Amino acid sequence: MSTAECLFCRIVAGEVPADLLAENDDAVAFRDIDPRAPLHALVVPREHHADVAQLAAADPRLLAAVVKLGEQVAGTEGDGQFRLVFNTGPEAGQSVFHVHGHVLGGARLGWSPA
Ligand code: 5GP
Repeated sequence: MSTAECLFCRIVAGEVPADLLAENDDAVAFRDIDPRAPLHALVVPREHHADVAQLAAADPRLLAAVVKLGEQVAGTEGDGQFRLVFNTGPEAGQSVFHVHGHVLGGARLGWSPA
């Protein structure tokens, strides 16, 4: 997929509107359009990588930067406690193939992924 066709590349570029929460040179955090928790942000690297495994292999420093921005948002938008989920592959629930961490928090979270 070219970056021109990638929804999250288009959000990073400002071509698709999003409720931005934080950004830096490496990554952007914005609210999920369909929140599953009181805090539900998505944190994405500016650079296109399809999923977290590919990002980890290509650029571990950038993956750490994504995690750090997620932690930052959990602190500014919530109490600093959070769940960070990277759905990886369609069977695991990934629907957008630009790596993104779901930052979930703001409530006591259940544990029933299946
Ligand atoms: P996945 O299913 O790939 O793990 O997560 C994709 C997430 O992107 C979903 O939680 C979905 O609600 C969110 N999403 C899909 N389209 C948009 C959009 O246009 N804007 C925002 N902010 N989130 C979106």
